[in-house]
Amino acid sequence: MGTKSTRGTNSETRILLYYRFTPVADPTAVMLWQRTLCESLGLRGRIIISHHGINGTVGGSLTAVKQYIRRTREYPGFHDMEFKWSAGSAEDFPKLSVKVRDEIVSFGAADELRVDENGVVGGGTHLSPAEVDELVEKKRAAGDDVVFFDGRNAMEAQIGRFRGAVVPDVETTHDFLRELESGKYDDLKDRPVVTYCTGGIRCEVLSALMRNRGFNEVYQIDGGIVRYGEQFGDSGLWEGSLYVFDKRMHMEFSEDAVSLGTCMHCGTATNTYHNCANGDCRAMVLLCESCAGSPATAHCGRDGCAALVS
Ligand SMILES: [Zn+2]
Ligand SMILES: [Zn+2]
Repeated sequence: MGTKSTRGTNSETRILLYYRFTPVADPTAVMLWQRTLCESLGLRGRIIISHHGINGTVGGSLTAVKQYIRRTREYPGFHDMEFKWSAGSAEDFPKLSVKVRDEIVSFGAADELRVDENGVVGGGTHLSPAEVDELVEKKRAAGDDVVFFDGRNAMEAQIGRFRGAVVPDVETTHDFLRELESGKYDDLKDRPVVTYCTGGIRCEVLSALMRNRGFNEVYQIDGGIVRYGEQFGDSGLWEGSLYVFDKRMHMEFSEDAVSLGTCMHCGTATNTYHNCANGDCRAMVLLCESCAGSPATAHCGRDGCAALVS
């Protein structure tokens, strides 16, 4: 389909990604308002609302998403919320889901997190992508290395991460508290630590949890890996591919992206994640095409899964 036929017509569509940490006194009222708004505009996607704010991804016609932004910003706390635009449509989502939860990112720290009109209270210092590089230069000149701390699930870092990053042993975001309190990272408490994640939202919370636990110099990247990669491509401190939560599974910032991922069974280079062949196992694993195609190796490696499929 050519751009000519869709340009300037009603068939243009977009996806919006957004979040805002701000006090929400009545999450249920906001949920009902958002649900009605999305239904009236024909939007589909997923929105989570808590006492700490809102986190959403919705898709629909260009006219509808513009209308959505205008109406959503009428809520005082969401007035200056940033919306990130992306290619896609309502068809990229199975349905519309608008829910109230304890947290907009699920760390299991709902009672600890504090937010005010300016966002998360006590989080890491925000850095633009250029400021990240400046910090690294400045610290290096002073004889100290900045530590990059991966705020995603460890699986995602297998195909891409900041150079030299610490990747915590995390399967779900809920594991971070246990990791931070394990003592494993206590040597980082007096070092400059830059937390990073896909779009920045997880680090808003993670950096605050770290500071609360005695990490004294914590930073976070505005817009996360996505914005850093948009600015520096593969010529900065980022290496490899970015794991993404849609059908593509991964994306690269340029043709120069290095390949970091390897098949867990045979070591062949691959950036392709597969579901474990055991239907009851939710693990995603990097497998080469050959290993993914053979019953003996199409699993995540755990005893139960290996035994079941072979
Ligand atoms: Zn293999
Ligand atoms: Zn498995």
